[in-house]
Amino acid sequence: TGTMAVSLAACGGGGAGAGGGGGAGDGEEGGLVGVAMPTQTYERWIADGDAVKSGLEEAGYDVDLQFAGDDIPTQQAQIDAMINKGAEALIIASIDGTALGTQLDAAAAADIPVISYDRLIRDSEHVDFYVTFDNYEVGVQQGTSLLTGLGILDENGEEAADAPEGPLNVELFAGSPDDNNAGFFYEGAMSVLQPYLDDGTLVVPSEQVDFGTVAIQRWEQEGAQSRMEDLLTSSYSKGEKTVDGVLAPADVLSRGVITALSNSGYGKGDLDMPIITGQDAEAASAKLIEEGKQYSTIFKDTRLLADQAVIAATSFLEGEEPEANDTETYDNGQLVVPSYLLPTVIVTADNLEAELIESGYLTEEEVASGQ
Ligand code: BGC
Repeated sequence: TGTMAVSLAACGGGGAGAGGGGGAGDGEEGGLVGVAMPTQTYERWIADGDAVKSGLEEAGYDVDLQFAGDDIPTQQAQIDAMINKGAEALIIASIDGTALGTQLDAAAAADIPVISYDRLIRDSEHVDFYVTFDNYEVGVQQGTSLLTGLGILDENGEEAADAPEGPLNVELFAGSPDDNNAGFFYEGAMSVLQPYLDDGTLVVPSEQVDFGTVAIQRWEQEGAQSRMEDLLTSSYSKGEKTVDGVLAPADVLSRGVITALSNSGYGKGDLDMPIITGQDAEAASAKLIEEGKQYSTIFKDTRLLADQAVIAATSFLEGEEPEANDTETYDNGQLVVPSYLLPTVIVTADNLEAELIESGYLTEEEVASGQ
């Protein structure tokens, strides 16, 4: 940290981003960085927050880390407060990607670089950089793993020799409409599922397929559970049909879906749990994967994302532009935001140990206990 403090002090006066409010940190240490995370109800955001905070602290910065309880006014107030406290850079995972215009205007006026974290902040020209995963590919992987679980594709992603002819009954879920990622996930997934819906291998008995209808507001577990309950009542109650697969876009939602299904008898006797996808490699879902109740998750290594956020913040604070590896995909309505995209991995019971435990992302105890 010593070197970092020196180089920061050296560029503190004239460097980009060191606004008038600089120096609110602890004397000769690096300046203050504000980190705004959406919620603590998802394990992943807690992991993200911790990893970004410790990475920045190791680099010599002070950190103001805030979680907003998925409440938009709370997040706005937290970011206002960070700016007032003299934050020299902001790292923000938004709740509603369109609701931070005022905050970003204020940040720009004070020369504070803004890094959009995981989710794209929309409709503002003051987004300086975006660190995220390849969100479309996450959706492709979710769709692919649904097809693999159903036996339509083999483990190499090729059409399986003994693929079922169908029709197999699937239901589709998407994430929160105010989260820019949710559309990317859904489109990615549908890009691989659509041909099988078109040729009748897959059917959606509820007929609910458009994004607006299948989206779960604020990514809430209860929302997914109650929508699944409604689907079971409306489209499966006569007992002549059973659910074979569910496209669920995040582990928390998968667990809501699993609760609804298990309350209606799935996973008991000869009524198997359907193939259910997920995302985030949460411990609670890793446990369900080991138990055979959830089929897959998408592993997004939040440690790597946090590292990229720290690299981006450090670059800005040293007066440099962070290096992007994508400058085409993420148009936020005002500009195409230079982005750094990280790869993701499909995890099933077959590779869970190698991907999640051996990589040190989760411990064996966390997977065993589900927390
Ligand atoms: C993230 C996912 C997460 C979801 C719900 C998305 O923006 O990319 O990892 O599951 O939000 O929190």
